[in-house]
Amino acid sequence: MSGLQLARAIPSTWCPGCGDFGVLAAVKKAVAELKIAPHDFVLVGGIGCSGGIHNFLELNGLHALHGRLLPQAIGVKLANPNLTVVAAGGDGDGYAIGMGHFMHAFKKNASIVYIVMNNETYGLTKGQASPTSQLGYEGNVEHPFNAILTALSIPTPAFIARTFSGDPKMMTQILIEALQHTRSNKGYAFVEDLSPCVTYNDTYKEWREKVLDVSKVSGYDPTDRKAMFRICLETMDAGKIPIGVMHRPTSREAEGEALELKLLPDLVGPARAETALAPNRAAYEKLLSGLA
Ligand code: SF4
Repeated sequence: MSGLQLARAIPSTWCPGCGDFGVLAAVKKAVAELKIAPHDFVLVGGIGCSGGIHNFLELNGLHALHGRLLPQAIGVKLANPNLTVVAAGGDGDGYAIGMGHFMHAFKKNASIVYIVMNNETYGLTKGQASPTSQLGYEGNVEHPFNAILTALSIPTPAFIARTFSGDPKMMTQILIEALQHTRSNKGYAFVEDLSPCVTYNDTYKEWREKVLDVSKVSGYDPTDRKAMFRICLETMDAGKIPIGVMHRPTSREAEGEALELKLLPDLVGPARAETALAPNRAAYEKLLSGLA
């Protein structure tokens, strides 16, 4: 299957140049690279511009309630653990109304990928300040929430990364790794993509100048949570924005830790168990005769 076959011939509702196109392209390339069949893939979208991403892919899609895409994506995974499940939404959806689920998803550690397209604004509703908006943006007086530092502070074996829509190569590579992590039942994968809203908060130029690939920093070790926390803080103190793989759990850390392995050791969820029933004509006829 090629990435092209995954694209629907319907026009996108996104503004030309929106950073979300970078994520859409990376999803298409990663799914094609890993040869994931469309019927084995479910994309759960949140509310907001970015949450409509499943509308532009020829895949199984589910549009979740506002801030509730994570429990719905985890539910899909537990119903059929053999599916590849991706949840995708924005910073307003995930870090405001969805904040409780954001924290608990690390604790639950189901093997799903969660992509947050962070544009530091509420684009769909015309540019109000969001949880990640900088001080002063649209009169914002609150300090911006930092999802990567928060994720690093939760001691669970999650894969954690940040990408930038202006670097599609890195985005695709990291998404492939995140998908491989979840498809091997190693647990949760969180990827925040810096995805500029070109209409209400065009940060492309600023972010292009500021992003710094943490793998190039001396002492980089994505299995060392403490070291990564320090590297991120020092990078930010230097006026840069850290991107790259922030935490890659060792095989030993991830072994047997995924939620679906704990709840469904044979990896058969209720949905799959039902569909796996063999047709049984005798039982069917017995059932019919009982109704006569
Ligand atoms: Fe993208 Fe912003 Fe347009 Fe929404 S309003 S589609 S986030 S550029």
